[in-house]
Amino acid sequence: MSDCLFCKIVAKEVPADIVLEAGRALAFRDVNPQAPTHVLVVPKAHHENAAVLAAADDGLADDLLKACHAVAVQEGVAETGYRIVFNTGPGAGQTVFHVHAHVLGGRGLTWPPG
Ligand code: AMP
Repeated sequence: MSDCLFCKIVAKEVPADIVLEAGRALAFRDVNPQAPTHVLVVPKAHHENAAVLAAADDGLADDLLKACHAVAVQEGVAETGYRIVFNTGPGAGQTVFHVHAHVLGGRGLTWPPG
């Protein structure tokens, strides 16, 4: 999608601090980190949110979750624990409508989230 920020990051038209490129997924650091590790993992293909991605039913959601874990291992938070968050819809705080998993770790994470 031509007006999608994360499509532009995937296309390398907008710079990002890329930490992992794994097949159909790309991971880059969030510009406004909420934890010592805060990485966004996106499919290279445009899907609006997690529900749309899951409905596409082509294994892409699996790839995305595997990429999230690979990021956690690479960032050294897999053992201490990390959180994967998909904000889905404006009411849940989604602001960029290209599905992305937030991978958060490196500090104690409270539950429930706000
Ligand atoms: P959400 O609110 O769940 O849609 O998450 C969008 C996230 O994208 C926010 O945490 C932003 O800080 C992050 N963000 C916005 N622009 C960029 C960018 N150019 N590079 C990296 N992260 C970004």
